[in-house]
Amino acid sequence: MNTQDVNRRIRLVMDLRNKGITDAKILGAMERIPRDEFVPKAVKDQAWDDMALPIGRGQTISQPYVVAAMTQALQISDMDKVLEIGTGCGYQTAILAKLCRRVYTIERHEILLERAEKMFEALKLRNITAIAADGMKGWPTIHGIDQAPFDKIIVTAAAREKPPQELLDQIKVGGAMIIPVGPSGDQSLKLYKKESEEAYSVKDLMPVRFVPLLPDIAKDEEENGAAA
Ligand code: SAH
Repeated sequence: MNTQDVNRRIRLVMDLRNKGITDAKILGAMERIPRDEFVPKAVKDQAWDDMALPIGRGQTISQPYVVAAMTQALQISDMDKVLEIGTGCGYQTAILAKLCRRVYTIERHEILLERAEKMFEALKLRNITAIAADGMKGWPTIHGIDQAPFDKIIVTAAAREKPPQELLDQIKVGGAMIIPVGPSGDQSLKLYKKESEEAYSVKDLMPVRFVPLLPDIAKDEEENGAAA
């Protein structure tokens, strides 16, 4: 790591702290996980700035502040089993992997998932299980084994009207889910807490901009924006 790289990392952490991220473990993970290695070459120079960037297949890596704020709102503990919907390039997954016991992550674009898995391997993050599937249906039963319910669920694509029922069902009682909800241009980040099998509390955290949560595995010809 050269001096410029170190300085960029420190600047980002200071920026996040100024914006209200106080959890030292989250700041430490954001300083250590090499965000520049998760993004395409063309945008590497901007990887340590607090902005969203394109990652191919029309998708984006979230702004570092949003990654940190979502993680902080979930109050992740090192005992937590976490489900993530929308692996994308795997950056948020890597941050979670540093903070919790195990991350289960689902991505509908197989090519993005393959690249993300290479990053987990390169960074020796061994507590991640990643699959290509439709995350709106929750984590599937695999070889007769259920992983649900989860202590925490994080969805990094926006539900148009309300969270998928399957995801609400997979939150452990006492657990929480964070998910952007709303149409493009009018989304709000919401924190659902499962108080009992039937009752949830909902809190609006902030306005956000996410790509939409879409059904089914992506088709090869699917193209919804910039390619990289
Ligand atoms: N957390 C990611 C953000 C990626 S953008 C990162 O840090 O890079 C959101 C991702 O959600 C996209 O990759 C998109 O393909 C994926 N997505 C959208 N709908 C999905 C669904 N139903 N199941 C799984 N992934 C989905």
